[in-house]
Amino acid sequence: MDVTEANDDSFGIEVILPQGGKTAPCCPHGPTLLFEKVSKGGEKGRRFYACSACRDRKDCNFFQWEDEKVSEVRLLAREAEKQSKRPLVTQQEYCNRLRKFSALPLDEKKFCQDCQILLLPGLHEAHSSHRSMAVSPAQLTRPSVLLRPLDNKKSNAQYLFTERSSHFLLDSLAALGFTKVLCVGTPRLQELIKLRNLDQKHKPMKSLLLDIDFRYAQFYSQDEFCHYNMFNHHFFDGEASSAVLQAFLQEADGQKVVMVADPPFGGLVKPLANTFSLISQSWRKLQTSDSSNTEMPMMWIFPYFLEPRILECFPSFTMLDYQVDYDNHSLYKHGKTGRKQSPVRLFTNISPKDVVLPKDEGYRFCSICQRFVLFLNKHCAKCNVCPSKDGREWKHCSTCGKCVKPSWKHCQACGRCALPAHPCGPGQAQDGCFSCGSREHKRKACPLKDSHRISSHRSKAKSGGKNVSRHPLVKPKAKRMSGGARRAKKMAALSK
Ligand code: SAH
Ligand code: ZN
Ligand code: ZN
Ligand code: ZN
Ligand code: ZN
Repeated sequence: MDVTEANDDSFGIEVILPQGGKTAPCCPHGPTLLFEKVSKGGEKGRRFYACSACRDRKDCNFFQWEDEKVSEVRLLAREAEKQSKRPLVTQQEYCNRLRKFSALPLDEKKFCQDCQILLLPGLHEAHSSHRSMAVSPAQLTRPSVLLRPLDNKKSNAQYLFTERSSHFLLDSLAALGFTKVLCVGTPRLQELIKLRNLDQKHKPMKSLLLDIDFRYAQFYSQDEFCHYNMFNHHFFDGEASSAVLQAFLQEADGQKVVMVADPPFGGLVKPLANTFSLISQSWRKLQTSDSSNTEMPMMWIFPYFLEPRILECFPSFTMLDYQVDYDNHSLYKHGKTGRKQSPVRLFTNISPKDVVLPKDEGYRFCSICQRFVLFLNKHCAKCNVCPSKDGREWKHCSTCGKCVKPSWKHCQACGRCALPAHPCGPGQAQDGCFSCGSREHKRKACPLKDSHRISSHRSKAKSGGKNVSRHPLVKPKAKRMSGGARRAKKMAALSK
């Protein structure tokens, strides 16, 4: 264990959301976020700015103390860095290329797998030594299948919905009468909406994808895709893109807008909630006066154990029992054999009784709770709720006066229910984990620790942002695991 690990319990990092006035410095991912070290006693540390989108310094190493004076040279270097990270092509140019590409004869439609781009004939020569493949018209309609999911360990791993989950989402939204879907980090949902429109049985739906992965720009027109950062509500193409969102949020002729977001799970709740409120506010401003108090309908897809954090930001939200699963994530798959339950849920301000969960997958309606729950989530007469959060059948502890996880036992010494192997005795685990809020472990043992960007900033803050090579957060053993495997392991550990 190194020094940083040993000191893990002593403090955490808080995000200070921008309150107008002071503008944050920008990194290539837009305005940075202001962080503050907080020690256990509540003492506040020195504040610093760091990238909103990247949890790994390798992806964006921006660091600046709040009160730091930045030299002209450094500002210029930053500007150069920003320019170097911009997409080479504008969205307009991508649209032109797509139009040309679509008109090509079949044998000239190629996709470079190494560069992840569609190749117009003029580019074939330049990419001839790369791996490339032919693209059928059908493949062109499924960019999320064609593109290699990003497997960037920390910031940007992409987990794509299974057929089951994406169709459930789409069918639910259609049944609820939504005609415009704002897809925030949900490329697969966007493409299914477009495919569904081809099928003339349905009332057409509009969709707009906001995503940081600009490879998707190649497949969509300007009013279907914006290069966007959901941690700071930043449009990389500025005014032009924010105007696209404004236009999309308008509800003419009885249209109904809904937002569906599936952020990276390591993402911090507070900045995400801030972004979603900003979108909701824009939507509200465009509403006619009679609905001026309401929030925009939203679905936020996130792990169940972050429920308290989300409800803190959005008291109007409920967590639904539906388990969202992913194609490229072995543990979250709705498997045939020995299914491992997915910890990912839908958080929404849509009335839970209106979101009908599929009976054939084991969901039922609880008429007392007025919502659909998994069959194992039995209504407790004493608590008067269907108490389970993790999909397992919970049991009532009469001493605690509430329902608890099946693996927990009441501990006399702690005066509460806990895992049999919990740190026992007075003063133990009372404050719980600084990182995720769980009372079952300390921050040091937090399974989500690495997935929160705060860890890397903490160590960076310590070394003053200079010590770039030292990266103590990932232990050598974990390093060999893929990002997906590591995350799966953490998730599995957390749901005990
Ligand atoms: N389940 C979804 C994909 C979720 S993966 C689907 O099947 O459609 C998370 C998505 O968020 C990815 O598309 C990723 O590119 C995007 N993303 C990651 N960080 C982001 C950021 N800072 N701003 C906007 N989008 C981001
Ligand atoms: Zn290439
Ligand atoms: Zn109970
Ligand atoms: Zn108990
Ligand atoms: Zn924790």
